[in-house]
Amino acid sequence: MWLEKNRKLADFTTFKLGGPADFLVKLKKSGKLKKFLEWFDQTERKNLPILILGGGSNLLINDQGYRGLIVKPEFNLIELLGEKIVKVESGAMMTELIEFVANQGLAGLEWAGGLPGTVGGAVRGNAGCFGGEIKDQLIEVEALNFKTKKVEIFENQACQFSYRQSFFKQNPEWLILSAKFIFNQNKSPLELKKIISEKIFYRQNHHPLGYPNAGSIFKNIPLVQAGSKLKDLAEKKGVIKNDPFPLIPTAFVINELGLKGCRFGGAMVSDKHTNFIVNFNQARTTDVVVLINLIKTKVKNEFNFDLEEEIKII
Ligand SMILES: Cc1cc2nc3c(=O)[nH]c(=O)nc-3n(C[C@H](O)[C@H](O)[C@H](O)COP(=O)(O)OP(=O)(O)OC[C@H]3O[C@@H](n4cnc5c(N)ncnc54)[C@H](O)[C@@H]3O)c2cc1C
Repeated sequence: MWLEKNRKLADFTTFKLGGPADFLVKLKKSGKLKKFLEWFDQTERKNLPILILGGGSNLLINDQGYRGLIVKPEFNLIELLGEKIVKVESGAMMTELIEFVANQGLAGLEWAGGLPGTVGGAVRGNAGCFGGEIKDQLIEVEALNFKTKKVEIFENQACQFSYRQSFFKQNPEWLILSAKFIFNQNKSPLELKKIISEKIFYRQNHHPLGYPNAGSIFKNIPLVQAGSKLKDLAEKKGVIKNDPFPLIPTAFVINELGLKGCRFGGAMVSDKHTNFIVNFNQARTTDVVVLINLIKTKVKNEFNFDLEEEIKII
């Protein structure tokens, strides 16, 4: 474990964007975190802000980088506790967890086939798709508070999960160390792997994976919050989805506004999935931000709705 200086964050984000961080530390063992933070608190840098970096698949970091400390959990132990419970450290990739549980014949996470990023990032954002969400199988989370250095256990209810939301998203001073999940034992590894492959195949066909991106830029639009103009249009076109509740896909709205393929600098609204912005030609973060603002303004003007970003912008 050592402190890297001026490390370019573009190397750690799926968007391949982000300037240098003042300091970056990678931690291979969760037990070292507390000691590291105690040491850091004794240095002249102790008041610097801290940002946790998982797989970098939900982040848009500015071109100037991050004036502070980046903590990257790389502890990734996955263990079976009893027959149906799995404990996983937050630095494990979701793909590793999914493969582990499928090999055990444990069902419940197949929806996450092909979901990029770490377990910590997925829990913090209550990641979801294909009708599933992280909260569905989660029993509890173990997390450490940067300020108090205390470790606490949060049961599912205490995590305050909702659509792409959690206690940890609201309180970024908590670093998720590990999570426990419970599964069903009603399928064979072969059956589970077939379902997971279908999800991966779907993503390959529908997402612009050929270019660096950070997944969906905006949250989808809850039907109950949409104005009548947008609601009527979505009903007429038959695009309302029920995942995890009735909503209008933001990709549909962006498409309707004719923004598919719209470019600024090296960034482009994907022509494969319009809720994705891709870094198609050495984009700067500011190029992506211009497109984000353009989309938000157009949606506001046309449908009087304020889109909310799903990605975290630093
Ligand atoms: C091609 C593509 C497809 C995607 N599809 C989906 C999808 O279907 N559904 C979906 O929900 N998301 C999707 N995403 C978004 C992204 O994969 C998820 O949000 C993912 O869970 C983020 O995890 P991460 O480790 O990459 O987090 P990062 O991007 O590294 O970080 C995201 C946030 O989580 C915080 N964080 C990370 N680790 C921890 C930790 N251990 N403790 C506390 N906070 C932490 C970070 O500080 C940051 O604020 C997609 C992204 C891509 C690129």
